[in-house]
Amino acid sequence: MQKLPCFLCGRQLDQRIDKNGKPYFVCDPCGTQIFIRRKTGIENLNELVRTLKGRDLPFREHARVLYKIQAVLAEIRGIKKEIKALDGELGLFSRDKDKERKRARELLNARIKTLLSQLKRIAYSDAHV
Ligand SMILES: [Zn+2]
Repeated sequence: MQKLPCFLCGRQLDQRIDKNGKPYFVCDPCGTQIFIRRKTGIENLNELVRTLKGRDLPFREHARVLYKIQAVLAEIRGIKKEIKALDGELGLFSRDKDKERKRARELLNARIKTLLSQLKRIAYSDAHV
């Protein structure tokens, strides 16, 4: 069962599925309802749940750690977009320009590696992150 903390109170919410097969979360005490209806949101949710999997966060750490993880995941997504854009431009210009783009691509990939290890540190270290 996929779980996410409520963004207001931190309580663990069980994922529910609506009649269209889309995921949503309800926090009874807060009355918050979070519906995820678009493909991008569902992908982001799955990514986040994968990252949080097996990680039992101390109650008070939930929101803080969650936002950190979200920020890193968002940055990784942005970099992947940049890489895709660079790939689309490769071979369209002079060889020097291609070289520049390949170099830029390497730097972006290195940044992703750094972010992934940062993500591991955030998700799996003790509460003191
Ligand atoms: Zn709540």
